[in-house]
Amino acid sequence: MTFPYQGRDIPYTLTRRRNMKTMRAKVMADGTIAVSAAPRVPTAEIVRFLTANAASLLEMQARALARRAAAPTFADGSTVRYLGGDLTLRWHPTPCAAEREGDVLTVFARTPDEARLAWEQWQIRACVALYRQLNLEVYRHFHSAGYDVPLARIEIKDMVSRWGSCTAASGRVSMNIRLMAYPVETIRGVFYHEYSHFLHQDHSKAFYAVLRGLYPAYDRWDALLKK
Ligand SMILES: [Zn+2]
Repeated sequence: MTFPYQGRDIPYTLTRRRNMKTMRAKVMADGTIAVSAAPRVPTAEIVRFLTANAASLLEMQARALARRAAAPTFADGSTVRYLGGDLTLRWHPTPCAAEREGDVLTVFARTPDEARLAWEQWQIRACVALYRQLNLEVYRHFHSAGYDVPLARIEIKDMVSRWGSCTAASGRVSMNIRLMAYPVETIRGVFYHEYSHFLHQDHSKAFYAVLRGLYPAYDRWDALLKK
């Protein structure tokens, strides 16, 4: 089915639902415009509704398609983001430990699901090692600069809404595993940010004075996370 908009016929799918009052349109992850409508709503009314809302539906569709194009497929030869660059996944058909050589990560996989799993497990191990190293490095820097901060207990989390968080009282710092897609300098900046919260639990001038004093490149690298 299609509806007209600016001289084009835009495709959509229609599902009739008894339990609906009128109708609702949404854009699915694959970009499909999906309409649910009560059985009694005439098609002409649905088309009018879609044409009236076409601008925002097409914008949502463009965003869904861009997200999909950017998402890794985990196919043999596809890429994943890793520390600010691209790693190419190579499927290996017989059991082997995941191994990285330059920009290529070879994993034991025969399907995209197996490749995704192998990649995630490899990334977690790399993340634990990197965060442990950055934690010590930043802790030592604070001490050498005369700040008495605790050695943070790092918790690696998969968070949607924040890159890191600090519970100063218990010395716990949560770090987002999704940072692993960004350059090490950016991740280091998040460590400096959270460590600065041991001294100031707000985003005051004093907080930023400590943060930028110890990590002058903070703003430049942190800007990547704002995109
Ligand atoms: Zn903060």
